[in-house]
Amino acid sequence: MPMKTCIKNGIAVFADRLEQTDLLLDGERIAAFGSSDAADILIDARGCFIFPGFIDLHTHLDDVIAGRPLADTWRSGSHIALQNGITTLGSFITQRRDESLQAAIDCAQAKAGGNAHGDYLWHLTPLRFDESGWREIEEAVERGFTTFKFYTTYREAGLYSGYEELEGRIKRLHALGCRVLVHCEDEALLLRAQSAKVDWRDPHTHARVRPAAAEIAAIRRLIDIGRKSGARLHIVHVSTPEGVEAIRAAHDVRITCETCPHYLFLDESYLTRPDGQRWLCAPPLRSSWQRQRLCELVRQGAVDLLASDHCAFSKTDKDAPGDDIRRVPGGVAGLGALPHLALRLFAGENKETAMPMLARLLSQSPARVAGIHPRKGTLQPGADADLVVLKSDGPERPIVSTLADAWETYPALTSRLEIRHVFLRGRRVAGNGKLLDEQQAMGACLCKV
Ligand SMILES: [Zn+2]
Repeated sequence: MPMKTCIKNGIAVFADRLEQTDLLLDGERIAAFGSSDAADILIDARGCFIFPGFIDLHTHLDDVIAGRPLADTWRSGSHIALQNGITTLGSFITQRRDESLQAAIDCAQAKAGGNAHGDYLWHLTPLRFDESGWREIEEAVERGFTTFKFYTTYREAGLYSGYEELEGRIKRLHALGCRVLVHCEDEALLLRAQSAKVDWRDPHTHARVRPAAAEIAAIRRLIDIGRKSGARLHIVHVSTPEGVEAIRAAHDVRITCETCPHYLFLDESYLTRPDGQRWLCAPPLRSSWQRQRLCELVRQGAVDLLASDHCAFSKTDKDAPGDDIRRVPGGVAGLGALPHLALRLFAGENKETAMPMLARLLSQSPARVAGIHPRKGTLQPGADADLVVLKSDGPERPIVSTLADAWETYPALTSRLEIRHVFLRGRRVAGNGKLLDEQQAMGACLCKV
């Protein structure tokens, strides 16, 4: 007999409302509301909010980027995620030119399998588009890989796609029923900015050679592609309010976007610190007014979802290149911070509207973009019983973004979010902000059909 759990007296958070109700879990699924009969386990959630499990669609774990290994393995990254209520992770598989797409998938699956706490799924970046390359892509789609990621920059790393190539790939993937994620920075505008005389020893140069105009221009091109193709597009890590406003205005295009806590809580002044290289990431941190305007847009609901773009490098890798910022690997930690900073963004706002907005930003929208809604991302009978029981007014504590040997991205910020219980498919896997049992918390890949 599967275990039945009843969560009593809590406030369930739906995407459009709050509701005081009991919640019955049966085995791996949500069974019913308002019913507590015959439960094996009772959880008292008085004074707590009950969210659908959080989903971070944009994380980099146990990979090699810019020639350096990431600081977080699947085990450490998914550990801090799950104890903070993130029950599903999205991560990336990038094909190398000398390997098949299947080999790239096998390699990534081997790293996550048996190590990932919580469920996970993959976004694929194939690099071969000849006939056999497309055959491999179609095979991957048949096996349940339905999100793909492309870049309008990083020509040197071999990741770049021109707009025309991109349009062709997007159309073909759309015909296969897939969604495409795009990193938007216009390569020509970046090259122009980088050809100016700049001081490569100064971390703040990074903000100047990756200007906001490059992101905005690329987003406009993608909106055009979306309009022409009818494809479903998702723009990752939008760092500019102008970019979000362009997407919001494109009512006739099926386009969504995400932004990340570092664009909402940090600005380019961090790059002027003596240790400014620790905050190098792409797109770069923006001006103070852009940061504030972006926060307003998130509060207004103009951004579909929040994701961490967690990409932690070791302290040594971040600090060593000192005299030339072009050698500093780009990326910051953020997984453990995501729910805390999302809540902080709505501090002082009316809970009746703020909490449902958080459920949209952290659960419902990411589940929709990943194609796993309504199995995930919502509280409804039949959905996976991935739940976060939390208090929004706990004691103030420092934010911890990563368990790896990497610099903290938000050393000056604190959080009052208290994670009381985390359920993964009906099993209680974390309590009081700590993982309970490593084995119980192991998840599964959602791409396999
Ligand atoms: Zn990323």
